[in-house]
Amino acid sequence: MSSRHGGAARSDDPYFPQHGNGGYRVAHYDLELDYKPLPGRLDGRARITAVATQTLPSFTLDLEQFRVARVAVNGKPAKFSLRSGKLHVHPARAVHSGAEFVVDVRYVGTPRPVRSTWGDLGWEQLDEGALVASQPTGAPSWFPCNDHPSDKATYRIAVTTATPYTVVANGKLVSRRVGASATTWVYEHASPMPTYLATVQIGPYELVPFRSHGGSVPQRAAVPAGLMKRFRHDFADQPAMMETFEELFGPYPFGEYAVVIVDEDLDVPVEAHGLSIFGRNHVDGHRGSERLIAHELAHQWFGNCVTLGSWRDIWLNEGFAAYSEWLWSERSGGDSAGAHAARVRARLATLPQDLVLADPGAARMFDDRVYRRGALTVHALRVVLDDGPFFALLRDWVATYRDSVATTADFVALAERHAGRSLKSLFDAWLFAPKLPVLPQPGA
Ligand SMILES: [Zn+2]
Repeated sequence: MSSRHGGAARSDDPYFPQHGNGGYRVAHYDLELDYKPLPGRLDGRARITAVATQTLPSFTLDLEQFRVARVAVNGKPAKFSLRSGKLHVHPARAVHSGAEFVVDVRYVGTPRPVRSTWGDLGWEQLDEGALVASQPTGAPSWFPCNDHPSDKATYRIAVTTATPYTVVANGKLVSRRVGASATTWVYEHASPMPTYLATVQIGPYELVPFRSHGGSVPQRAAVPAGLMKRFRHDFADQPAMMETFEELFGPYPFGEYAVVIVDEDLDVPVEAHGLSIFGRNHVDGHRGSERLIAHELAHQWFGNCVTLGSWRDIWLNEGFAAYSEWLWSERSGGDSAGAHAARVRARLATLPQDLVLADPGAARMFDDRVYRRGALTVHALRVVLDDGPFFALLRDWVATYRDSVATTADFVALAERHAGRSLKSLFDAWLFAPKLPVLPQPGA
């Protein structure tokens, strides 16, 4: 749909047609956020560098419930209005097709999570600090953006907040200016990321490096002091996991990896770009969440480095992350992936078979069957290809679509190249038909 002023207002994502905007691509977000935890007020400035893909007399950004004080385009004040989650911008002069332009938005308000089928998304105030978990559509709860996973951009995120708190955001901490009452933390993320993986975590965290080494990049954690002992025990194998995944999937795609343990229970941990967020319930002191630690780490390759081009391809994120749980199990002395697969297939066979993996529908994107059947699909492919070609395919997938977006069709094509033949019957059965197929047997 185009707005009546000729700016393309919507993306073409069938799952979330209200999110994402046509007519331009974002190259960089520069966010300056001043957050007062009590009362929870966010004073924000976003400078967005974008390139017009058509001439734009007007355009839109996704932004929820803030008061917008000022919008400028290329330094000149622009007319604007905010309604129904869209910031409509009318620059003084139309932006020409192909031109780079900078949108400068000043906004203020109390960020509130976006309500969704999956609970609250986006910026959430905590008793002490805040957390951000946006997947899939929570990003407009804290900054104006082109909220579609296919529009990846680089970020600079500067957060000023009360001095006792620690701030963690995506990427590398490039500066920290400590004041008596407020401290400014500046993070830069040089590899392109989608809006849903942008995050800010604010809380009374201690920043600690991992003691043991493993893998090619530094690993850090932000942990409340009271959870430190359990954290040290439960996450002790993460460096070994990193080493294993680098061997199987290729080099870790970003400059560093951080984990944040928030002092609240979370239903599930969530992945962000270059970091993952766990709840205090995920550090039980008995390694009860080890498979989830593997799952979130694997997302750095599957979902974050190679990002889905459309939300219907969610299995490309979750199927591979779920399969990585089994890979870690078999590589760390637990059950083999084959044993996990047989058990999970038997369990899935007792559940309704009414879900098409490659297009589950928006409401069922995060249905457990997407995860489990996704993992089974990856395992079926491994059995059919054999380990050599299978892991070569995974590494090629990450290398080919690194920092970019990809679709199910892209994956099928690459898999067939590695197989040297058509895999149509395999993928038709696992991805495009609801009936649960039988797992192929090794050597059959
Ligand atoms: Zn996941």
